[in-house]
Amino acid sequence: MSARRALVLGGAGFLGSHLCERLLSEGWEVTALDDFSTGSPTNVACLRALPGFKLERRDVTSPLQVKGPFSWVFNLASPASPVHYQADPVKTTLTNVLGTLHALELAVKYRARLLQASTSEVYGDPEVHPQPEAYWGHVNPIGLRSCYDEGKRCAESLAMDFVRTQGVDLRLVRIFNTYGPRMAVDDGRVVSNFIVQALRGDDLTVYGEGSQTRSFCYVDDLIEGFLRFMRQERELGPINLGNPLEFTVLELARLVSEITGSRSRIVRLPLPADDPKLRRPDVSKARALLGFEPRVSLREGLTRTIEALATTLARDGSGVHVIPGGRRPEHAPVARGAS
Ligand code: NAD
Ligand code: UDP
Repeated sequence: MSARRALVLGGAGFLGSHLCERLLSEGWEVTALDDFSTGSPTNVACLRALPGFKLERRDVTSPLQVKGPFSWVFNLASPASPVHYQADPVKTTLTNVLGTLHALELAVKYRARLLQASTSEVYGDPEVHPQPEAYWGHVNPIGLRSCYDEGKRCAESLAMDFVRTQGVDLRLVRIFNTYGPRMAVDDGRVVSNFIVQALRGDDLTVYGEGSQTRSFCYVDDLIEGFLRFMRQERELGPINLGNPLEFTVLELARLVSEITGSRSRIVRLPLPADDPKLRRPDVSKARALLGFEPRVSLREGLTRTIEALATTLARDGSGVHVIPGGRRPEHAPVARGAS
């Protein structure tokens, strides 16, 4: 293997920024490429002074000329929140298909190991629960979510064909709902939505009855899984990574309310089309192969995320009136409804 140099596509995003930070802390040189469509240079601001870190603005749908070599490439470039991936669905498909093609071409060029970030969405609205890797899924190929679901499925197919035809050293990960600090305030996914709403004193918007389930993984646990998977030689995947504890969306709303001490109401809005009713990873494979075991409880992970989002809201002046422990961050403006 050549020098410890890693390329992270989507490196200024939520997961990408945590991954860059972890790699740098382990002595890697890291080049991050990002078009800043849903990520931001702010996410990696604390890394930019480090000599081993480079950040460049690039769109992965265009062929990527990047000066290597790299031992590891991580392809994380894609919007991940339903709100964002449905805003420009054609671009979402292209990002996943062309972006993955370009990542694979770089892996061939530099003989690099490639981690491809796939998703639990490849299982669609699953009829098997929990979802093992062997399940082929239940996806609507023409629905509002299909730009992402089918884009990621096509990316998996492309990656496997590069393994078979070009011998790419793939590590294919299916990520289940992961949350944590540096999620964007306007990300639109459920964890950050509820936290931002609770901190601002706005209504918590539960879609449908709130009986649909998800399994929420704290970001540090996921990144640990990425690195364990990259370091092992035997298995190319796909492998599920996530936290196997399952919660209803209503339970999540109540927990966020409790931890923030918010007086926000929980309101019901219509359930979006094709919203998966149940989701929980079967992580037996990751446990057996990697010793993968999420360590951060939902309560602890939410508490850390709430602290981080409260700081961001206070800094941006976008309104916080409830924060954990009842402390008001310095300089935080008093938001509407604040007592
Ligand atoms: P994110 O939106 O914070 O990060 C995605 C990053 O990719 C952003 O920085 C964005 O600007 C960048 N990007 C998007 N399109 C691009 C393009 N055309 N060219 C270059 N950069 C582009 O979301 P995230 O949660 O950090 O997700 C990262 C990856 O993990 C995505 O591939 C996503 O599909 C996958 N994933 C995440 C989760 C999760 O729960 N967080 C679950 C399943 C899969
Ligand atoms: N959801 C919700 N309120 C919100 C945002 C999301 O009730 O403000 C629900 C959404 O309908 C889904 C679950 O929370 O059932 C998870 O949604 P998210 O957008 O986080 O990601 P998904 O797992 O659907 O890709």
